[in-house]
Amino acid sequence: MIILVVNAGSSSLKYQLFDMDKELVLAKGLCDRIGLPGSLIKHKTFDKRSAEKEIEMKNHKDAIAALIRVLTHEEYGVIKSLDEISAVGHRVVHGGEKFFKSVILDDEVMKAIKECVELAPLHNPPNITGIEACQHIMGNVPQVAVFDTAFHQTMPQKAYIYALPYEYYQKYKVRKYGFHGTSHKYVSERAAALLGSPYDKLKIVTCHLGNGSSIAAVDCGKTVDTSMGFTPLDGLPMGTRCGTIDPAVVTFLMNKENMSPEQMDTIMNKKSGVLAISGVSSDFRDLDNAVAQGNERAALALEVFAYSVKKFIGAYACAMGGLDVIVFTAGIGENNPQMRKNICAGLEFLGVEIDDEKNAERGFEIDISTEKAKVRTLVIPTNEELAIAKETKKLVSC
Ligand code: AMP
Repeated sequence: MIILVVNAGSSSLKYQLFDMDKELVLAKGLCDRIGLPGSLIKHKTFDKRSAEKEIEMKNHKDAIAALIRVLTHEEYGVIKSLDEISAVGHRVVHGGEKFFKSVILDDEVMKAIKECVELAPLHNPPNITGIEACQHIMGNVPQVAVFDTAFHQTMPQKAYIYALPYEYYQKYKVRKYGFHGTSHKYVSERAAALLGSPYDKLKIVTCHLGNGSSIAAVDCGKTVDTSMGFTPLDGLPMGTRCGTIDPAVVTFLMNKENMSPEQMDTIMNKKSGVLAISGVSSDFRDLDNAVAQGNERAALALEVFAYSVKKFIGAYACAMGGLDVIVFTAGIGENNPQMRKNICAGLEFLGVEIDDEKNAERGFEIDISTEKAKVRTLVIPTNEELAIAKETKKLVSC
């Protein structure tokens, strides 16, 4: 079964084509600068053929048409015709309270996704545009929506209700939703498989640490808490996002600096995080280099990040009444042994103990704990696209 996975942003569209019988990526690529001058498509195949070409893409429909052309191209293609694609899986950021699992798209589902636009005004509209473009170009090929929020819909009320006037929850659905759900689900399931333990018996803390970072407490296969909130701004300090701060700071700074809500939003989302603390970069590789040259603020930014992750691990171990597994994933979680070491240092009392030699490995799934550690600490590369393809296959095969 061949499945196309689409992740549509406002001016870009990422795609991967999977052969699900072999779980093999046949091709992947990016349509970039959609609707802008100089729009281009970058494409790579499993056997290392690649193409990069400027093509006029006025909108997402043009982008889908372009990616179909390249997928079926004589020289760069991997399939003969569009008919070989059995289904399309779409990443949709926000499913609100309506979606607790992936769904096949129909008119009713589209209406419900559109109703969630208010909750994710930057993300859901381009996701919808991508779906509509596919429906237009690909006719009757089944389309599936896979939501970033869905896996966290199992959280109990005590974890997702904010201590604000209850009417704001009722009127506007202001509550914690959590994000990166596809990744948390994928790596927690892989953790159980890797350990050969039943998923529904494990207490797992999954640490998705990338430019955007979040942590989830997965108790017996279900999220019971997660660090991101109403939006992906909450929780850990991130590349450029502030994470959790005293909410009173927001109005204090708006008054002091005479800032509009939009300006304050930009500060918190784009000009904060480790970028702001270090004054150097949002990228942890740059921070490591700066620390090596003696930059104290870069060192502080890394310390703040590790401390914050450590606190969430402790909190979630308490929330679950125990801890069996910690999983590190995403850019930093997968590639930064020193950060993993700093996070785990001091967690020996919980039974966490990592082996320096194993911790130095990268690029594959590995248990980095010492033999005697009570908690297994794993590094599992995330694969959100494969997870979307698997969900899509499951739904269309029913
Ligand atoms: P992501 O958003 O998951 O792509 O993660 C981005 C973060 O991961 C950046 O801060 C990078 O410094 C870090 N990262 C990604 N790849 C590597 C790598 N190969 N080595 C070290 N850090 C990396």
